[in-house]
Amino acid sequence: MSQDPIPCAKCKNPVELGSQYFPFCCERCKMSDLGHWMSENYRISRNLDHRDVDSFDPTIDHPDFDADLDSSVD
Ligand SMILES: [Zn+2]
Repeated sequence: MSQDPIPCAKCKNPVELGSQYFPFCCERCKMSDLGHWMSENYRISRNLDHRDVDSFDPTIDHPDFDADLDSSVD
């Protein structure tokens, strides 16, 4: 038998051994966790405003913001 799969630190899906995203299953989960940590850090230092949102690196996925937009649309 092979080793038990390691659960993704974000979504608990099995993570491939040697994955470049370890301990996450994919880039989305890794970026999601990082983005959450970053947003928490921003909140601690000061409040977010529109300029902060505009200055965010657009190459980084921010699922927390996406979730908020989706819930408001629905
Ligand atoms: Zn995952």
